Amino acid sequence: MAHKVTFIPGDGVGPEIAEATKRVLEATAVVFHWDLAYAGDTAQDIFGTPLPSYILESIKRNRVALKGPVTTPVGVGFRSVNVALRKQLDLYAGLRPCKTYPGVPTRYPPLNVVIVRENTEDLYSGIEFEKDTPEAYQLIELLTKTTHTREKIKKDSGFSIKMISEEGTRRIVRFAFDYARANKRKKVTAVHKANILKFSDGLFLEISREVARDYRDIEFEDVIVDTLCMRLVRNPERFDILVLPNLYGDFIAELCAGLIGGLGVAPGANIGDDIAVFEPVHGSAPKYTGQNRANPMAMMLSGVMMLRYLGEGEAADRLERAIAQVIIEGEKITYDLKPSSATDPPVGTRQVAEAVIQKLQEANYA
Ligand code: NAD
Repeated sequence: MAHKVTFIPGDGVGPEIAEATKRVLEATAVVFHWDLAYAGDTAQDIFGTPLPSYILESIKRNRVALKGPVTTPVGVGFRSVNVALRKQLDLYAGLRPCKTYPGVPTRYPPLNVVIVRENTEDLYSGIEFEKDTPEAYQLIELLTKTTHTREKIKKDSGFSIKMISEEGTRRIVRFAFDYARANKRKKVTAVHKANILKFSDGLFLEISREVARDYRDIEFEDVIVDTLCMRLVRNPERFDILVLPNLYGDFIAELCAGLIGGLGVAPGANIGDDIAVFEPVHGSAPKYTGQNRANPMAMMLSGVMMLRYLGEGEAADRLERAIAQVIIEGEKITYDLKPSSATDPPVGTRQVAEAVIQKLQEANYA
């Protein structure tokens, strides 16, 4: 059976890494029917908007999308096409496996954690009040009427509201535990700053503990976000699955991408109840557009995640092994994976795809 997938090449290096990813996915012999859709700069030029409605319709129809990075236009229209896409499709779980592949140059101990980031709430709810506006004055008036905030309000303030709901927390923590079960993971760690943010992170912690009681087979613990940063660098083997509110999820995912050797090997997905969009963590790296220089492996590994989501676990394992083999051999890799001491030159995006395809073919005949 062919899997129907919305295919969004994206901007900058997007089309090159997306093409490389499509080639290696097809080389697994899983059959895809690609539904090509343009977002970002290309869509802006053709349709006058970076996120035309046909893209949303295509993803809703196919339920799965593979997406390259999209440039966020500075100072016009959308704050971010990516945020708009996640909100409009209610892709509430940001999933980021962060795994150190042997051979990737990094000075840190090996990491193998999965980050589950809540994607829709927290300081990203978009509830903001600009300083010196009627709305900000209204809010200040309301807050000065409240006994316990009266003394604290400074009139020359801007406000960004951190909103964490019981329902939003419950579904993301359940997602983390369900993912742990489905992927034979052992422990879920809830990350928060509940000692200071009692009513937002405090609620996140309370609901996390409550949900954990329904999953007695999976170990549960919580950790304060600043302590987590230190422990991730010193004792990363302590952690398995991390579930975090939106803002901490953003920071910690980036930290973990650094720990595993950079953006070139950091895959991701944004998942809702029955829709999933798979994309690399990195952006469109505009300065490398059209240069056959970008590392396609983060998008290829997002493709591995997509295969697993589609129930093609065996093909996913084969493709991941092929990518890992190319990394460990250290020859057909892009500039970002070369150790600084390397004397042989890096190769380009297309050559990496060819090397991965060759590994897949060798495995077929082994
Ligand atoms: P970026 O991730 O595009 O690039 C930062 C640097 O990382 C690059 O200059 C390059 O040195 C390196 N890099 C990134 N991807 C690489 C790859 N595949 N191979 C080798 N090196 C790579 O971040 P940025 O410059 O801040 O953002 C560029 C644009 O991408 C912005 O418009 C931003 O909004 C957008 N963006 C999109 C997404 C997305 O679509 N999901 C995510 C992040 C940023």
